[in-house]
Amino acid sequence: MYRPPLRDIKFVLEHVVDLEALVKLPAYDHVDVGTVHGLLDEAGRFMSEVVAPTNRVGDTQGAIRNDDGTVTVPEEFAKAYQQYVAAGWNGIKSDQGYGGHGFPGVIGLAVQEMLTTANMAFSLCPMLTMSAILALTHHGTEEQKVTYLEKLISGEWTGTMVLTEPEAGSDLGALRAKATPADDGTWRVSGTKIFITWGEHDMAENIVHLVLARAPDGPPGTKGISLFIIPKFLPDADGRPGEANAVSCVSIEHKLGIHGSPTCVMAFDEAVGYLVGEVNDGMRAMFTMMNDARLHVGLEGLGITERAYQLAAAHAAQRTQGRAVGASHVTATPIIEHPDVRRMLLTMKAYSEAMRGLLYDTARAIDLSHQHPDQSTRRHFHDRASLLTPVAKAWCTDLGVEMASLGVQIHGGMGFVEETGAAQYYRDARIAPIYEGTNGIQGVDLVTRKLPLAGGEVVRSYLDELAGICTELEAAGTELASVRRGLEQGVDQLRTATDWLLSRTDPNDALAAATPYLRLFGTVAGGCYLARQARAAVDGAGDDDFLAAKVATTRFYVDQLLPQAFGLVPAATADASALFAVTTEMLGV
Ligand SMILES: Cc1cc2nc3c(=O)[nH]c(=O)nc-3n(C[C@H](O)[C@H](O)[C@H](O)COP(=O)(O)OP(=O)(O)OC[C@H]3O[C@@H](n4cnc5c(N)ncnc54)[C@H](O)[C@@H]3O)c2cc1C
Repeated sequence: MYRPPLRDIKFVLEHVVDLEALVKLPAYDHVDVGTVHGLLDEAGRFMSEVVAPTNRVGDTQGAIRNDDGTVTVPEEFAKAYQQYVAAGWNGIKSDQGYGGHGFPGVIGLAVQEMLTTANMAFSLCPMLTMSAILALTHHGTEEQKVTYLEKLISGEWTGTMVLTEPEAGSDLGALRAKATPADDGTWRVSGTKIFITWGEHDMAENIVHLVLARAPDGPPGTKGISLFIIPKFLPDADGRPGEANAVSCVSIEHKLGIHGSPTCVMAFDEAVGYLVGEVNDGMRAMFTMMNDARLHVGLEGLGITERAYQLAAAHAAQRTQGRAVGASHVTATPIIEHPDVRRMLLTMKAYSEAMRGLLYDTARAIDLSHQHPDQSTRRHFHDRASLLTPVAKAWCTDLGVEMASLGVQIHGGMGFVEETGAAQYYRDARIAPIYEGTNGIQGVDLVTRKLPLAGGEVVRSYLDELAGICTELEAAGTELASVRRGLEQGVDQLRTATDWLLSRTDPNDALAAATPYLRLFGTVAGGCYLARQARAAVDGAGDDDFLAAKVATTRFYVDQLLPQAFGLVPAATADASALFAVTTEMLGV
């Protein structure tokens, strides 16, 4: 069972996102807070009643490739997908001109959170479709928009993101798929792509692949890559799926988790492709898609944590073992009464709420970067979103694995047994730090590209904002005094590490410090998002369990989890020498 955390989602939208102010932007004239709340309530009902029950069968049955190259997903998936499309969930944040509902992206994110938490493997299909919509909205021609956007926004057709090749994983500059221009203005694309999520399936009547390939005579590396639309079926004169394109699914992978999501090896054999944007400028369009997908993969860390937490809490409340201090000697105690089990549960709860703050604030920044009427404000939030995206992706997905592991631990031996479902979350969680740019690559992106933005001013202005949240806590008096002190220390430590990184001249130093720095960044930022909520909660906490829990959870986070990140400061400010003191030969290879 999945219980959507609607109150927490609405609380974050009110106190972190400031939804009231966001919907006052001219682009959201048709949106108000009441409508959003109604929409979220209905999304919660749909995801918990229609999508969540498909999670288990997706894992046990998985996707199957048939001898003719088609891929069959569980019947329950196809039924849920039809209902998802019919209810219009796919178009929440998309352009109204093409059938979307035009809600802010952060509301789309909230709906996607519930979809992801209900069934992560299933959610990947709409998630990639939405990223494809975004790429075409920003980089497609009018004709391409007319042909594809309505179908993708409705969800009648689904989208994929086709980058990876056997020799080109983290390094897309190495990709070899070839595109040659045809006489009629279209292109012919050939090559083999691996690990393509939802590359082939039977849930929709057409699949629109967005494929990276090389045009002739382009420069080597990422500067010579172009982006192509390659539909499974070429749209006919009426825009319906027509002739089959030369695209086939050669095999699907047998994986640790997300069994319901087909991961395909795809062969393109002189497939008809349509160029998106300019020749050799494909990475720009692909980054539009990847940044959106990175935020949504970050959401998977939160979704898995939330689901694993709900399962573990329910188990801990009913499983009895031993006797808690002071308990009667006649009956055994529910394990939720043991301090160590509480520590694990509270850790999961605190991190999930901190992650929600970071993810939603990143989505807010993206909304403001597109929709704010003032150009310099748009620029400011564009840079802010660029800074936060790698942190949101990597911090949340690393935590997703750790929190799913805690979920297994709370179940004891039954956690290791598939029957309870705790193990599925652990297995499903493991992919999220790998795909959409590994978490190592997110760290590299953060320290080499994002910290230096505007000479360091982008990160410094964010740190000043975090310091401002600490100052605001003074208004809450003694109630949040320890939270304020802890977070002030955290922001100082993060500033020290940031200054150290910005002053490096040897690039290897920043690369060596990147992962511990990203973890420190996420943990401090997450604490500040919680503190902002605790400040809003403190007055009503006396007689409202939700608000009292928010304050207590924030205190726990700042007193017990945040200081763990302080231990990362030596590694986040250490040069690379220790890593190379051991030679490759000494590592045994
Ligand atoms: C289930 C699944 C679904 C996927 N879905 C898609 C999809 O839909 N579309 C798609 O195009 N791809 C997809 N992928 C591919 C995925 O994005 C890649 O696996 C990922 O980018 C890593 O590439 P790689 O596997 O080649 O690992 P490698 O690049 O070989 O990386 C191996 C290790 O080396 C590290 N590393 C590599 N280079 C550097 C560097 N410069 N600095 C520091 N560390 C480095 C990495 O962090 C990693 O730890 C999927 C993969 C899986 C498993």
